[in-house]
Amino acid sequence: MIPLAKPLVGPREEQLLLETLRSRRLALGPRLGEFEAALSGRLNGLPVSAVSSGTAGLHLAVRAAGIEPGDEVVTTPFSFVASANCLLYEQARPVFCDIDARTLNIDPEAAAAGLTARSTGLLPVHIFGYPADMPALETLAAERGLWLVEDACEALGAVHADGASVGTRGNLSVFGFYPNKQITTGEGGAVVCPDDAAKQRIDSERNQGRAPDMGWLDHDRLGFNYRLDDLSCALGIAQLERLDELLAGRDRVAGLYSEALADVEELGLPCPDADGDRRSWFVYVVQLPPGVDRDSAVEAMRERGIDTKPYLPAIHLMSFYRERFGHREGEFPVCEDVARRSLALPFFGELTDGEVEQVVAALRDVMAATTAGAAR
Ligand SMILES: *Cc1c(COP(=O)(O)O)cnc(C)c1O
Repeated sequence: MIPLAKPLVGPREEQLLLETLRSRRLALGPRLGEFEAALSGRLNGLPVSAVSSGTAGLHLAVRAAGIEPGDEVVTTPFSFVASANCLLYEQARPVFCDIDARTLNIDPEAAAAGLTARSTGLLPVHIFGYPADMPALETLAAERGLWLVEDACEALGAVHADGASVGTRGNLSVFGFYPNKQITTGEGGAVVCPDDAAKQRIDSERNQGRAPDMGWLDHDRLGFNYRLDDLSCALGIAQLERLDELLAGRDRVAGLYSEALADVEELGLPCPDADGDRRSWFVYVVQLPPGVDRDSAVEAMRERGIDTKPYLPAIHLMSFYRERFGHREGEFPVCEDVARRSLALPFFGELTDGEVEQVVAALRDVMAATTAGAAR
C-alpha cells in the first residue's frame, strides 16, 4: 500500500533521540529551548513557544490575542477542525465565510461581510501550505480593530509576496508538527509570538500558569499542560537541521504530480504560485470532475494499493457544528463544492518517481472507469 503520508526520519533523528533519552532529561530539559531557538532562527528571530500540538498552540494563541466568551471570530470553513474548535474552548463563536476558489483560503471580502458588532478577531488558515491574503486581512483587522491569529500549521516554509515567511508578520501564528506536516516532532506545535511578553504568557499557560522562572510554585493564572517533551524537541531539532532538504523533496514530488496530471481532462490541480506568493507543499489534493463518484474512486484506488482520502470536509457541515450552530448545505458554495470533490493523493518527500507514476496511472484508470460508468 502506498500511504498518504510518511515522515522522513533518519540517522540524525535517531542519534538526537538516543542522546536525549540517555541524558534522562525528558521534559523541561535543555532540548526545549534549543528547539525553540532553532525554530526562531527560521522565523526571522521572533520569539517561539513550543507546545504539545498545533491545537494547543491555537488555543493559547487565541487566549493571548484576548479572546472572550461570546466573541465572534471570522474564520474559514475549509480547514482542519482544530482552527474552529480552538474558539469553542473559550466559548467564542466561529463565524464562517466562503473561500477563494483559486487559493482555497479565506476570501477577505467574504470575511469583511461576515463581521458584526460582536466580532473581535480573524483566524485565517494557510490551507495546504498556500499563503492566505494577509495584507488584505491585516488592513481589515486594522480598520475594524480586530486581532489576528494565523493558523500556519500546514505552511512552514511558505513565503508571502512581500518576502515575509508565513508566520513572521507579527501576528500570533501557529505551526503544527504532526507526522504528516513539513517537519514532525510526533505530536507537537509552536506559537510564533509578536514580542517577549506574549511568549512569557504562553510559556506560563502551557505549564499550568506557573511563573516563568519556575523558581517558586506560585501559579498566578489559569494554565494547562500543553508542554512539549524533550524527546519530541530532539526530533524537531534534527528535522529543522534539514528543513530545506525536506521542503525540496516535497517540491520535487508536487512537480512530478503537476506535470503528470496536467493533461487529465476536468481534473482540478492545486493552484500554481502566483503574484509572488510561494506555497510550501503540504498535501497534493486534486479536485475530481463533478461526474466522478469520489467514494468509489477511493475504493478503486485502494484496490490498486493506493491510499487516498476525501480532504478536507467542510467544518460547518460536520454533525457537531450543524447541531450546535444550525448550519446547513448551501451556506458557503465555493467551500462546499471544493470539499465535495477534493481528494488527497499520497504525498511525502520519499515518494519515488515510480510510485508517482503508479498513482497517476491508477487515477487515470479510475477516473475513466467511473466516468464511463456514469455515462452508461
Ligand atoms: C495539523 C493542523 C492543525 C494542528 O493539528 P494538531 O494535530 O493539533 O497538531 C491545526 N490546523 C490545521 C489547518 C492543521 O492542518
